[in-house]
Parts: sequence; C-alpha cells; structure tokens
Amino acid sequence: MSVEPERIRALDGATKQLLWDRMISGKQTVSSYVVILDGGTVETLELTAAQAEGFECLTCRAQCSNGAGTFVPVGRIPSVGSVFQCIACSVGVR
Ligand SMILES: [Zn+2]
Repeated sequence: MSVEPERIRALDGATKQLLWDRMISGKQTVSSYVVILDGGTVETLELTAAQAEGFECLTCRAQCSNGAGTFVPVGRIPSVGSVFQCIACSVGVR
C-alpha cells in the first residue's frame, strides 16, 4: 500500500491538532533557562521546553496555536530561540 504525498499534505484539522498535542506533550520537561528579556534584563527561569522554544506563553503557558497572532516576543534564550507571551500576559505585566 503506497502513501500519496498529496494526502499527507492535506491533513485535516483534527490530525494537525493531534500532532501538535503530541509535540507539546513531548516538551514538558522543566529546566532552568537563562532568558534575556527585551530591555536587557537577564533572568534565570524554570521553563518547560515548550515555553523555551516559543510554543507556550512564558507566564500562563497558553499555547501559541490558540488564537493566532496573540503572541508577542518578550525575549530570547541563547542557542534555543525566542520566548513569547500571550497578549493578555504581555499587557498584564507592563
Ligand atoms: Zn499568557
């Protein structure tokens, strides 16, 4: 039985959600990260890998797939990537 590439590309929403959930649940290991916040403040934070890689809000852990465009970058972790907050947390702390 061969798999058609077109079928793989045309994943339905439920399948995409399943893959997303699986990816997120594989990134729940908490570690200490040195975060360089916008403005230059350096903080050591306990974050899940999902937070460190920008898939979850730094503060409330909302997933960035929920409500596209409601995440703002707030800093970065050297050699890992940018970290984000959802708009609600971003407004709340500033
Ligand atoms: Zn948040």
